[in-house]
Order: sequence, then structure tokens, then C-alpha cells
Amino acid sequence: MSDSSSGSLYVVATPIGNLDDLTPRAARVLSEVALVAAEDTRHSARLLRHLGLHRPLLSLHEHNEAARVAQLDARLAEGEDIALISDAGTPLISDPGFVLVRELRARGRRVIPIPGACALVAALSAAGLPTDRFLFEGFLPARSAARRTRLEALAEREETLVFYESPHRIRDTLADIGVVLGQRHLVLARELTKAYETFLEGSAGALTTRMEQDPNQARGEFVVMLAGAESRQVAATVIEGEALLGALLDEGMGVKQAAGVAARLLGGARKVWYARAQALKEARQSH
Ligand code: SAM
Repeated sequence: MSDSSSGSLYVVATPIGNLDDLTPRAARVLSEVALVAAEDTRHSARLLRHLGLHRPLLSLHEHNEAARVAQLDARLAEGEDIALISDAGTPLISDPGFVLVRELRARGRRVIPIPGACALVAALSAAGLPTDRFLFEGFLPARSAARRTRLEALAEREETLVFYESPHRIRDTLADIGVVLGQRHLVLARELTKAYETFLEGSAGALTTRMEQDPNQARGEFVVMLAGAESRQVAATVIEGEALLGALLDEGMGVKQAAGVAARLLGGARKVWYARAQALKEARQSH
């Protein structure tokens, strides 16, 4: 139970580029709290100045977070409200704050989210990949061997995979995705909400080529989204279907007719089976 005379911790999302994305509610909370705990006080001082606010700032980052708990809890006990912000987007999402929130909740303090920008949600909302289920993995390991091991562990996951990545590692990460996951479809959201916002899509190899042609495409901040693995059932049906189509074509059946038989026996759209049968026929003719 939270004590009604004590203050609350507000976990406030700030913009990921475009300052207009700060919500009016976030601005109001930031103007009313006694203290703003921020990942980088110099960076956040600029945001608060832009908003015309002059709230006291206190640094809270991964190295001092645990030590700050008692100090902030004491302020809340005195009835003061506190805001937690990070450099960009939603605190705790690949940013500090988890230890603080966990500890304050355990002490019965009120923790109130003030939602707003979050790079992974913005990226997913415009990527055109399935969003009914996704797996957010934060940053992949910095070293290539560990990164490949992580990607191998994720290779069979059927959910859309989402990663954060920095400009100095994006090319190496694409290279490892290519090695481990081959031609898997990928969408790269770069510089969301900023002047050079770009969505690129294709295989890791194709996007690497694109960055070689235009080095600007490797600049800025990235959300890397990968299509999930085809489900085993779908994959099995595709393999079965190819064998069936192959046999029907061998018997001299036409592409259209073979596609019809496959759709009837295995389900799925006739159009898709037609495209597969056509591709199979062309592949056989070219050999
Ligand atoms: N808490 C933040 C959020 O809610 O998205 C994420 C913080 S994390 C330390 C920073 C990473 O988020 C960047 O390296 C990048 O992968 C991603 N990111 C943040 N802003 C972005 C933007 N404007 N466009 C693309 N990716 C962004």
C-alpha cells in the first residue's frame, strides 16, 4: 500500500528526436515535480531549458542508481514528487531506472508512468512487419562472436525481432545477421522523428550494399527489425508443396493446374502456389 502523504515517482517519456513529441502531460509533470532524476543532467538541462523549466536535476545512471534509491526514497517520504527521465524516449527501455522503480515499489511508493515516445514502438508502428507478437532484445552484444551466438539462439523464434543499434556497430551487426540468418527480411528504422528519418528494407546483404553506396545511411540511431522465422508448420507445408508441384510439373501438368491442386490439398492461396509453381518451372528450365 502506498502512503498517501508521500510523494510519487513519475516515469516520464521524453522525445527521441522531435521535441514536439513531448506530451502536454509530461511537460506539466516536469514543471511540477520537486526534482528531476536524469541519466545525463547536462543533456536533460537542455531539454528543460527548451521547455522554459528550471527544475533541480540529479544524475541517475547505471553506476549510481542503486546508491540513489535511499536518497530519492527519503525525498518521497517527505512528500516531494520526483520525475525520472532518460536521455531520450521511455526510461527503463534500454535505459536506467529499473533498480529504482523496483526498489521504490518494494517500499510501497507510488510509481506513475507518463507515456510517450519510445523508439522501438515508433519503429514497429511503421515498419510493416507483424506486431501481434514481437521480441525486443535491446542491444546485441558488442563483440561479434557473442553477437552471433545470440542471433543463433534467436534464429528459430517466430516473433518479429527488434534490436537497438548504434551507428558505429550497424555494419558489423548487419554482417553478422547475414552470416547467421541469411536472407531474412529486415527493416531498418533510422533517425526516427528527425530530419533524416529513413526506413530501409531488404536482406542484410542488400542493406550493407546500400550503406556502401550511401554512407549517410550508416549514420544516426537505428532500430533493427527482423522478420520472425517461418513457422515450422508453414515451412513444412512449403517443402511438401514444392515436392508436390515438382511431381505435377514432371507429369506435364501446367503451372495453373498444378497450383490449383496444391492449394486444394495443402491449403493457402492459389495465387501463392501459382507463383511458386512458376518459379519452380523457370528454375528447372534454366538448368
Ligand atoms: N529509452 C529509449 C527508447 O524509449 O527508445 C532508448 C534508449 S537506448 C539507450 C538508445 C537507442 O534507442 C539508440 O541506440 C537507438 O537504437 C534507439 N533510438 C533512440 N532514438 C532513436 C531514433 N530517433 N531513431 C532510431 N532509433 C533510436
